[in-house]
Amino acid sequence: MEEKDQKFTNLDQIGEFGLIDILTKDFESNNKSTVLSIGDDAAVIDNSKEKTLISTDMLVEGVHFDLSYFPLKHLGYKAVISSISDIYAMNGICNQITVSIAVSNRFKLESINELYSGIKVACKNYKVDLIGGDTTSSKKGLIISVTALGISHKNGFVARSGAEDNDLIVVSGNLGGAYLGLQVLEREKQVFLVNPNSKPDLSKYKNLVQRQLRPEARIDIIEFLHDSNVKPTSMIDISDGLSSEIIHICKSSKKGCNIYEDKIPISNLTTQTCNEFNLESTTVALSGGEDYELLFTIKQEDLKEIEKNPDLSIIGHINSKKKMNLVTKTGKNIAIKSMGWKSF
Ligand code: ADP
Ligand code: MG
Repeated sequence: MEEKDQKFTNLDQIGEFGLIDILTKDFESNNKSTVLSIGDDAAVIDNSKEKTLISTDMLVEGVHFDLSYFPLKHLGYKAVISSISDIYAMNGICNQITVSIAVSNRFKLESINELYSGIKVACKNYKVDLIGGDTTSSKKGLIISVTALGISHKNGFVARSGAEDNDLIVVSGNLGGAYLGLQVLEREKQVFLVNPNSKPDLSKYKNLVQRQLRPEARIDIIEFLHDSNVKPTSMIDISDGLSSEIIHICKSSKKGCNIYEDKIPISNLTTQTCNEFNLESTTVALSGGEDYELLFTIKQEDLKEIEKNPDLSIIGHINSKKKMNLVTKTGKNIAIKSMGWKSF
């Protein structure tokens, strides 16, 4: 055990300031609006006349992630994604993040470095500057909190509350994959606990596992909408499942909706894996979280533009009745409530 630990550095050997220096030394700021970054009492951002958007997400070990199958590099990446996705969901551009961590002494410098290498890749991919944070110890486990800062696009931010009667409901990508990826990983963990020599073959589920461990945020959709001159009337990102997000939009907008089951985008791999796990793919799409797709409403006249993007699906429309309905493949109407597992 001791020998194995030799190549690892205990955090108390380097101290808090040493740790911050090591973790942040390779980060460069590239956005014009970042005036002052890490190293002072506060960072300085110049957003000129633009409105500032800000959103925070926190991930707690044992609640939001399990390090027995979650590589720290991926965790760093995902923590950034879940936070910047909220800025995109406001029709925004994300330019800066701050990252705060609480770590127990069970972690070594090398592990926290892994976490930051994932953060760094995400910053690079999404052109975001790391401008600060906080570092502290925890009694048990790892906590990571990411605050994302941005500005709204020139045509303004989009709230959850703007959906109007007869607006079309649009969703990006496909749904349910991240939840199924988690089911696959949990199953392999149980197998591993029984037989530590088992070597799981996850290649068949690669896309699902990837959606769980290394999700992406839909900046491409925000850019597409911008280029197409389409401003959604309301928007939200799907972190908790389609049903709770459409409920948020309808409640905020004081409207109802019809969602058509046969229009909900679900990949073939998701459908196949649902069969294997004895799950209903519609239920998984409605209730499985962490897909980080965008759900938004548009005016009918914008349909032509939206149809040009093959990764966008029209799944229903808004109505004035304040009733939220799922129209099933057989034509039945089911109320979308908090669509739990027993609703079907
Ligand atoms: P203070 O005592 O003013 O809170 P700190 O010593 O905590 O300052 O932080 C020093 C600098 O390092 C600050 O710019 C802070 O934003 C940044 N920083 C601290 N922890 C982190 C972290 N985990 N990730 C990124 N930046 C950090
Ligand atoms: Mg501090």
